[in-house]
Amino acid sequence: MRILIQKFGGTSVASPERRAQAAVKISEAVGKGYSPVVVISAIGRSGDPYATDTFIKMVTSIYSEVPKRELDLLMSCGEIISGAVMVSTLQSLGLEAVLLTGGQAGIITNDCFGDAKIIQIKQEKILKHLEEGKIAVVTGFQGMTEDGQITTLGRGGSDTTAAAIGVALNAEAIDIYTDVEGIMTADPRIVEEARILDVVTYNDISNLAHQGAKIIHPRAVEIAMQKNIPLRVKCTFSDAPGTLVTNMQPDMAEGSDLIGDRIITGIAHTPNITQIKINIEDEDSKTQAVKRIFKGMALADISVDFISVQQDKILYTVRDEIGDRAVSILKNMGFEPEAFPNCAKIALVGGGIADVPGVMADMVETLADNDVEILQSADSHTTIWVLVKKEHMVAAVQSLHKKFQLEK
Ligand code: ADP
Ligand code: MG
Repeated sequence: MRILIQKFGGTSVASPERRAQAAVKISEAVGKGYSPVVVISAIGRSGDPYATDTFIKMVTSIYSEVPKRELDLLMSCGEIISGAVMVSTLQSLGLEAVLLTGGQAGIITNDCFGDAKIIQIKQEKILKHLEEGKIAVVTGFQGMTEDGQITTLGRGGSDTTAAAIGVALNAEAIDIYTDVEGIMTADPRIVEEARILDVVTYNDISNLAHQGAKIIHPRAVEIAMQKNIPLRVKCTFSDAPGTLVTNMQPDMAEGSDLIGDRIITGIAHTPNITQIKINIEDEDSKTQAVKRIFKGMALADISVDFISVQQDKILYTVRDEIGDRAVSILKNMGFEPEAFPNCAKIALVGGGIADVPGVMADMVETLADNDVEILQSADSHTTIWVLVKKEHMVAAVQSLHKKFQLEK
């Protein structure tokens, strides 16, 4: 059996016309001899009647405390609705399909409601239906605990579902269908000239995704990488070839878009970040302060980023919505923090960065020429980050895209 995973995101199933286009992709796979496992997201985006965010707002706009278990039950509904509609769409084309919830598909998770981790997939649950010649439509973003509680997998969870099933069933490929024609050098909503990448490595894409590129969830990339299952990002509404994500070495890649030719693969951005600054007067108390601050954040379940311990101060970032809470925790601990909300993080990502001197210098110069103030910076062998004011974010991404000629 040649198993192919086909995942359709929220915009790909948002209207009868779009679902019909998705169904054509599924029908084409059947025509090529594949047994498709179709992973479905909820219909539409925030504000749409059956979108997950709409369900969440329905209760959270009235009640500040919603039990996590019940919230997961509520959040799992969007994919069930969408999946049921998709099965009918397929049926209308003469394709026999069956809808399986996460639990029915054998996706077993831990009991961390809202952010559950998949611990096992009982493959026979899906295989049984494929062997009967049916298309298995599986609700994305959800699973079930060993004792039958419904859980959800956190943001981007449908990508994770698709990748995990792909690995469990040893699929030939995992196709992520979305509303753009592949992974691009930057978010096309910000950079009009962004170019589609033909081939990229799992590492580069996982980095880009961790740095804020919303196109795919990093966890999904990391799962596919474990068994080297090719991941393809394609468009539901066109026949463009899309982006192939593999571990291919540069000299093995075919075509003009050689992985090894590029220094920088792409630029990602994350808006809505708060920079926190704590001045430390004497050097001796700094080590103790660092320990206390980050322990305090960890105990409050606040994830921190961009930590920079300098001679007279400690800097780090949190998401804007957590800023006030982080500040009040710090004040309660006796610190005098300053918070600067509305910042954005820009990341240049590329496996070639480490080998080429001057990338950071070029970046700094370009930002200065475009009047973008750098609030903080850091780098690793594959990524260079800068923190800027949110109002400078678009100019920063656009000017860097141009400087490093990513459109070519
Ligand atoms: P889906 O509902 O299909 O999961 P998403 O909204 O999660 O769709 O992802 C697709 C969107 O990701 C695109 O519409 C695009 O605006 C955005 N995006 C962000 N960064 C990139 C990038 N580097 N390449 C392509 N798309 C990107
Ligand atoms: Mg998505």
